[in-house]
Amino acid sequence: MTTNILFSAAERHHPVWLPALHNTFSEFGLDFNLLIETNRPNDIHYLLHSPDGPINDFTPFANLKAIMTLWAGVEDIIANPTISCPLVRMNDPGMVEGMSEWVTGQVLRHHLGMDRHIMNNTGAWLKETSPPLARSRVVGFLGLGVLGLACLKAVQSLKFQVIGWSRTPKEIPGVKTFHGKDGLTRVLATSDIVAIILPLTKETADLINRDTLQSVKRGAVLINSGRGGLIKEEDLLEALDCGLLSHATLDVFKIEPLPVDHPFWQHEQVSIWPHISSESRPQTASISIARNIVKNQKGEQLDNLVDITRGY
Ligand code: NAP
Repeated sequence: MTTNILFSAAERHHPVWLPALHNTFSEFGLDFNLLIETNRPNDIHYLLHSPDGPINDFTPFANLKAIMTLWAGVEDIIANPTISCPLVRMNDPGMVEGMSEWVTGQVLRHHLGMDRHIMNNTGAWLKETSPPLARSRVVGFLGLGVLGLACLKAVQSLKFQVIGWSRTPKEIPGVKTFHGKDGLTRVLATSDIVAIILPLTKETADLINRDTLQSVKRGAVLINSGRGGLIKEEDLLEALDCGLLSHATLDVFKIEPLPVDHPFWQHEQVSIWPHISSESRPQTASISIARNIVKNQKGEQLDNLVDITRGY
């Protein structure tokens, strides 16, 4: 039987995603129809979804085997009351690779104090001692999932001391791991650089706030490539202004694009990235989608299922 797959995403995604999906599905030997619209929703088996696409009411799609998101974050779809089939989040090796590179780059920037020299065109010969070695710095990761763990390992390979925090206890060779409220306090208190790669859920919303920031090691750097909603922005500014934190490098914000009059733009200790730390790469992401459809058709459990009650 032919598998009907509906791609629901903004038109700007079509030129890169559709050829990649088409080629990959063919390479996997799928007998498929890849559609961008339909007047027979009952015939659709898999719906590839981006929140910017035309379909956000899934009620007419009575025979869906799964909704598969194009992106890793699911906060825009998870509470959709019309979902009545499994929801699968994106787990793309290309996205993981990109995020590992971005986080490692940000860690090295702050570790080596790169800005001081890159920005110096004053003629002043700033000869000081060399930067410390990575082994003397602690990098703490909030979130040890697909992305957080890959970033931790990339940073660990450069000999940084790495520690991590997750919802459930973890055992990772060579890594001190923590969970729970006390665990968060320990990670914040110990880390010179804190990298946040958490999903936005009811539990993690505004996780970084005036209270939790009281625990940070004085002068630490914060890097956030999870979601803007993880941080209470006014409390972050306060922590920067009073020296609790020395810098925040942010890729994600509560409102995106970040409004031009937002105080972050004027703040010398805030670096703003326009939500580009990483994204799903159609070439590799298509393989994850195809592999999962094949698994599902063989009657095996889908990979990367979202747990609606857990929130990610
Ligand atoms: P994931 O594999 O689902 O991992 C999530 C991690 O967060 C897990 O370690 C989980 O703990 C932990 N976590 C969840 N709730 C928690 C809580 N209440 N307390 C402590 N830890 C908690 O997700 P992922 O693929 O790594 O992606 C993480 C997020 O990155 C995505 O949800 C998305 O929002 C963001 N993202 C951003 C970009 C960007 O361009 N900036 C790109 C891709 C993704 P357990 O291990 O115990 O489950």
